Amino acid sequence: MEQIRDKNLYYVGGYVRDEILGVKCFDIDFCYEGDAIDFAQKFNIIKTNKDFGTVRILLNNKEIDIASTRTEVYPKAGHLPVIKETACSLEKDLQRRDFTINAIAKNTVTNELVDYFGGLEDIKNKKLRVLHSKSFVDDPTRIVRGLKFSVRFNFELEEETKRLQEEYLDNINYDMSYHRLKKELVETFNLNIEDAYNKFVEQGIYKLLGENQIIPEIKCSIQDLIDKFNPQYRWLVYLGLYDLSNFELNKEEAAILNSYHKIKSIKPKDNVETYFLFNKAPLESVLLYAISINYDIATNYLENLKNLKPFVNGDDLLALGVPKGVAYKDILEKLLIEKIKNPNMTKVEEIELVKSQLLNGFLK
Ligand code: ATP
Repeated sequence: MEQIRDKNLYYVGGYVRDEILGVKCFDIDFCYEGDAIDFAQKFNIIKTNKDFGTVRILLNNKEIDIASTRTEVYPKAGHLPVIKETACSLEKDLQRRDFTINAIAKNTVTNELVDYFGGLEDIKNKKLRVLHSKSFVDDPTRIVRGLKFSVRFNFELEEETKRLQEEYLDNINYDMSYHRLKKELVETFNLNIEDAYNKFVEQGIYKLLGENQIIPEIKCSIQDLIDKFNPQYRWLVYLGLYDLSNFELNKEEAAILNSYHKIKSIKPKDNVETYFLFNKAPLESVLLYAISINYDIATNYLENLKNLKPFVNGDDLLALGVPKGVAYKDILEKLLIEKIKNPNMTKVEEIELVKSQLLNGFLK
């Protein structure tokens, strides 16, 4: 990064925070006090966005984003801000940010930290402090960002920030950008799902999901299942129990919820019913069943039944003289049912069973 140093260029945001905390940070946020696009002219520019005053350059084969200092206003509370002024002072730029811990800049030439709002002290005391009293009204996503940092770093809301959060949660403006809220929720729940969920309920953050939310009964911890089976949409394993109609769900997410609502009122009587209840359901739906309906039934499926497969396959059926065709599926499914009833069956026993009971009418 040697070549990019400039007295007006600063590292900002998460990069500075993480460096102070001594944790790894994957993307560097640069902020130029002045016009970043002018500054970038001497580099290999990949793209610019004049409206936002941002520029992407290629340096040592790495793409680097640089933003001009800017101020923002929220013409509609809870929605995306619009830019009011670009190339403003660094102080004004830092003031638009979410928490003091994310409003520290570091000069790229002198390495001096610029900390107008007490971010260093807050990092030391593990406190999350907003920069002004309307912060959550402007952008309620910050409540979930606060949750994310409290889960990630074990930080707590400072007293006044906590009061402002409570005040907002008692008075939510539901006309907000659920797209951004979802993005932050997914990131937060991917960090440590149980810690995130406990704080989410304790602090009343669930109210942000939409009006008249009801806290669901969680039957038991399923952290062990989450760790073991590593679901892709882990946020849904908890939040799928809430009303998510405000959120835009992708196809897979919608399928998880659909499938859960289909299976949730069914209580299988034996292993065969259990197998066929879950075998077409996405993993997350089974986990939702585990957490809200019956842990033992869902675990029995995941641990003992999900991967059950007869040893006998199509080649074996061919060797037994079954002509290739539709019958294979039928025979193998019947065999699978027998295997679920008796998982310890050996291949020899399976072949015996196929010969004695399942071939009727299928042989030439
Ligand atoms: P992470 O490590 O999770 O990426 P980050 O703090 O780097 O956290 P980004 O989403 O990359 O988060 O945002 C970069 C910076 O932009 C933040 O550090 C913060 O200063 C500012 N920022 C991000 N989101 C908001 C917001 N909703 N309101 C105000 N400032 C924000």
